[in-house]
Amino acid sequence: LNICFAPYQLEKPDNIGIICVVQDVTQHKKLEEMQKEFVANVSHELRTPLTTIKSYTETLLEGMVDDEETTTNFLEVINNESDRMTNLVKDLLELSKLDNRQTQFKMQLMNLSYVLEESVSKYQIHAHKKNQDMILHPADKKYKVMGDPNRIEQVIKNIISNAVKYTKENGHIHINIYDEKDEVIISIKDTGVGIPQEDLNRIFERFYRVDKARSREMGGTGLGLAIAKEIMEYHNGKIRVESDAKEGTCFYLHFKNADVKE
Ligand code: ADP
Repeated sequence: LNICFAPYQLEKPDNIGIICVVQDVTQHKKLEEMQKEFVANVSHELRTPLTTIKSYTETLLEGMVDDEETTTNFLEVINNESDRMTNLVKDLLELSKLDNRQTQFKMQLMNLSYVLEESVSKYQIHAHKKNQDMILHPADKKYKVMGDPNRIEQVIKNIISNAVKYTKENGHIHINIYDEKDEVIISIKDTGVGIPQEDLNRIFERFYRVDKARSREMGGTGLGLAIAKEIMEYHNGKIRVESDAKEGTCFYLHFKNADVKE
């Protein structure tokens, strides 16, 4: 709490008193802390690949590596780390645009079932590589929502790519689209590693990752779900998750059904 006192005196000499202003600065402090943490995270995330790039380049420049295979390995590491930085900067720019309301959303009446089918078909190849079966269960009708098809595809792809990433070989990914009351819901369920109960609320935070090493190994930036959440909120929609270490994880995307009049 911020507490300020100030004396005051009205015209009459005996009319004096003290004004006390009590201000709750909890929110302000919280925001300040979050900003500091964010900058520290960004710095750390950028410094890690830079350190690797620097040390590998120096070793190559010093002529310490003389066989071709090791040289190629080193160059691949440098290349991967540069990609990681590029992805990170891309995601950061995207978040910053969303924060500043500079992102252009081309809102239109769109066929959500079609966008879902497209997104799933683009990821089948990744699932196939890990011998996972990814099934989009046919819905009994087509669903329409108001939204930007590209942005919604981005959200769906992010969730599907996580499902593939965090599910071992031979796992299953089941995708459904259905309606409930005035909403259209997409569910993406995997049989992967699951998310511990205590982390469930935090995975939508920027840079929050259950297992940093695993996420990095998979090329993740830790920003995908934060971006997805912002996009869903812009659509007056919702993203939520249920998970269990034994069963796997299920993400739900809730949209307002454009066919249901208010
Ligand atoms: P990342 O780039 O690390 O994948 P995200 O923002 O997409 O970042 O996800 C944040 C974290 O949530 C991940 O690091 C991972 O720990 C967890 N996560 C997301 N999706 C899944 C999933 N399907 N199964 C298990 N964990 C998941």
